[in-house]
Amino acid sequence: MREKLKHELEKIKAEGLYRSLPDIDEGAGKYIISGGKCLLNLASNNYLGISKKKELVDESAAALKAFGCSSGASRVVTGNFSLYNSLEKEMADFKETESCLVLNTGFMANLAVITSLAGRHTAVFSDKLNHASIIDGIKLSGARHIRYRHNDMAHLAELLEQYKDTEEKIIVTDSVFSMDGDRADLAEIVRLAEKYGALTVADEAHATGILGGGRGLARELGLEKRIDVHMGTFSKALGSFGAYIAGDAEIIDYIRNKGRAFIFTTSLPPAVIGANLGALKWLRDNPSCGHRLLEKAKTVRIALNEAGFDTADSSTQIIPVIIGDNFKVQQAGTLLEEAGIKAGVIRPPTVPDGTARLRLSVRLDLNDEEVQHVISSVRRLKNA
Ligand SMILES: *Cc1c(COP(=O)(O)O)cnc(C)c1O
Repeated sequence: MREKLKHELEKIKAEGLYRSLPDIDEGAGKYIISGGKCLLNLASNNYLGISKKKELVDESAAALKAFGCSSGASRVVTGNFSLYNSLEKEMADFKETESCLVLNTGFMANLAVITSLAGRHTAVFSDKLNHASIIDGIKLSGARHIRYRHNDMAHLAELLEQYKDTEEKIIVTDSVFSMDGDRADLAEIVRLAEKYGALTVADEAHATGILGGGRGLARELGLEKRIDVHMGTFSKALGSFGAYIAGDAEIIDYIRNKGRAFIFTTSLPPAVIGANLGALKWLRDNPSCGHRLLEKAKTVRIALNEAGFDTADSSTQIIPVIIGDNFKVQQAGTLLEEAGIKAGVIRPPTVPDGTARLRLSVRLDLNDEEVQHVISSVRRLKNA
């Protein structure tokens, strides 16, 4: 057994896929100290840069002082205390759904949703680039896992036709894809779902706080009433931690009763719920911030495309710069660090083989000079 572990680790290193965690002073800040150098942080998902805003920090501190450090147990055991009620009501109101359930992480939310709704007799249709937690949820559910080519609606239609006699069908998709920054074709997904009688689940982890006035891609497209389960996180643009699912009362009630990743775990601590309430309030007061961020990202993307970089089909704040080779992408990451920029260095299995990339997550708090510095630093990689 030990021999195998050692051998596997050596293999991972030889393929340029070894992961280590560099020491940094903090993760979400606009600047981080890494290797003794101050770097502009384009690697985090704190897209709106709100994790240190007074609105969040003050509400978090107040909840901590009032209720202490722990929630004590799963809410199924101790009951729901008022803070959770407030957050779930606020979120349902924001999403304009009947009901909402807060879960500990986005990863667990996807496990809870998929394992409660799907079982051995269900066919789950899932985009090939969906988040790992969706894939794991499907595996854990024991459902038939039917993967369609990324954003290929003709392929999805073909597979739905093939399985039309399977009674239980679910289509699940990221709304904004985490490593490509492109958007799902929700309009066509909803049309196909209605045609074939499938439930729909949209993971809005990267769209929450940004698209549709912060309510997500479904809202931006006017499709929010036609998606069955809306999942999103507080951990990315909202600058905090945790996740939610929103939908009609029956479906949320069902997941509350069946979702093991909700039932068998201690609920989030008060400080996190306080921060989430603060983040939601901040978002309501700043509905256009997502739009402004997208404009900033567009400037970067257009400049990089003009310089000949492949940014896949990105149309959001997430900009991949496709490099391909696992070693070259690490070199490119190091060169950017030398220019004072921390970018995500993303390799398989997070992305398909041969598509290693830098992942730039553009932040709202970048000023014009910093935007230009990012553009010129990436451009210089061409000559490296
Ligand atoms: C990050 C992410 C998750 C997981 O959310 P966490 O709160 O970080 O666990 C789920 N789905 C997608 C698409 C994500 O990008």
